[in-house]
Amino acid sequence: MQSIEKVSLVSTGSVAIRPEHVSRSGTPMLWWLTTSRRWTPPRPINVYVIEHANGLALFDTGQNRASVTDPDYFPRGLNGFFYRRLARFEIAPDETLTAQLARIGYDIADVDTAVISHLHQDHIGGLSELTHARIIVGEAELDAARGRSAELDGYLQKHIFLPDLHWEPLRGELDLFGDGSVMLFLTPGHTPGSLSALVQRTGLSPLLLVGDLTYDAALLEKGVIPGVGDKAGLLASTRRVIELAERHPGLVVLAAHDPAAQGLLAKANRAIE
Ligand SMILES: [Zn+2]
Repeated sequence: MQSIEKVSLVSTGSVAIRPEHVSRSGTPMLWWLTTSRRWTPPRPINVYVIEHANGLALFDTGQNRASVTDPDYFPRGLNGFFYRRLARFEIAPDETLTAQLARIGYDIADVDTAVISHLHQDHIGGLSELTHARIIVGEAELDAARGRSAELDGYLQKHIFLPDLHWEPLRGELDLFGDGSVMLFLTPGHTPGSLSALVQRTGLSPLLLVGDLTYDAALLEKGVIPGVGDKAGLLASTRRVIELAERHPGLVVLAAHDPAAQGLLAKANRAIE
């Protein structure tokens, strides 16, 4: 569809996670989270930027730099211990969302819509800079983030429910620009309200932005699911993506923390011969 002018990505720093996080190992999460001694090499924290004739949209908003500078960003006690065991972040001063958008020629003030794949810390980091935008998120995700075990489930309420944010809960599907170019739909599993976006452009490969449904598009293609999230939900959503790829030849799956995503997107942005 001609109405999409450009799709780019920026990364708000990098994150190392456990190998058991990337592909399911069979051992329970609590076990590997408390005992694993290995980290993956640093992976990106991708924010996708969709420039459409009728507006500028983000898919995810990265990790907030305050998480590496403010000792009070994370919970204390046992939950704080789990957060430190789960992921290690590095975010330089010029790796804020605003600075990264400026680097590729966008002003954060021009962002009309931020679609959030899910409400974990490394996807909501830019919310404080987006009080002027529509924030679209799965309704079940908002419910989970308000739930009693939210903090243990990876939701940092004080960094999510900020004043002056314009939430738009998604139920079912949404045609973001009304022309079929960006279709949002739910792909639960990593979290209860995780969503994905199918981006279709004339003469270019279709894209599927999946958040944390996978950390490696090549593993997703083989049906391998990550070690974090509800197994049945991850398997069902992965199957749905594989079926979608059959209906959309050349579909390029772009995840939030896939080191291959930048190269995959660059290749997809070249016209089909
Ligand atoms: Zn993530």
